[in-house]
Amino acid sequence: MSNILAIVGRPNVGKSTLYNRLTESRKAIVDDESGVTRDRHYGIGEWTHKNFTVIDTGGYVANSEDVFEAAIREQVLIAIEEANVIVFMVDVTTGITDLDDDIAQILRRSKKPVYVAVNKVDNFQLQSDATVFYSLGLGEIYCISSMSGSGTGELLDEVIVNF
Ligand code: GDP
Ligand code: MG
Repeated sequence: MSNILAIVGRPNVGKSTLYNRLTESRKAIVDDESGVTRDRHYGIGEWTHKNFTVIDTGGYVANSEDVFEAAIREQVLIAIEEANVIVFMVDVTTGITDLDDDIAQILRRSKKPVYVAVNKVDNFQLQSDATVFYSLGLGEIYCISSMSGSGTGELLDEVIVNF
């Protein structure tokens, strides 16, 4: 497979909301399998007449905090292996958490292109709060609202360059 975009990030930042928006009603082309892939969803996205596979990571079964964090790290490592491009989603309403920092550290070591999507920027005022995410050390940030779709076009314009 080629042209694969993985959405990674800690729980509740809005990954699945973006995934649903990108894949709409298009059918998943890969069935979920046992083990760690049980927690991943595959769909087909389309932007400016280019098709690509979108992977939604998350939906973790474990509830112990340690296992939880380990599972998220595992998903990030798989995403780096499997995807051509990674969208690292963070949440403007919470700022940078320890887990965000951990994920950023893993992603900075990867050779794959990473796009930081600062989600829940639902209004103009929140854009100034988003600037703290530059300190993740992953370059440009993209302010989006997965809920309304604002900013997602600008993000996809950049992502699609890799496909
Ligand atoms: P995931 O755990 O990262 O997959 O996050 P979800 O997509 O399940 O979303 C977690 C929560 O954030 C849900 O209540 C969503 O409705 C909410 N959410 C997602 N995107 C946005 C957004 O752009 N703005 C706001 N205000 N809420 C959002
Ligand atoms: Mg989810």
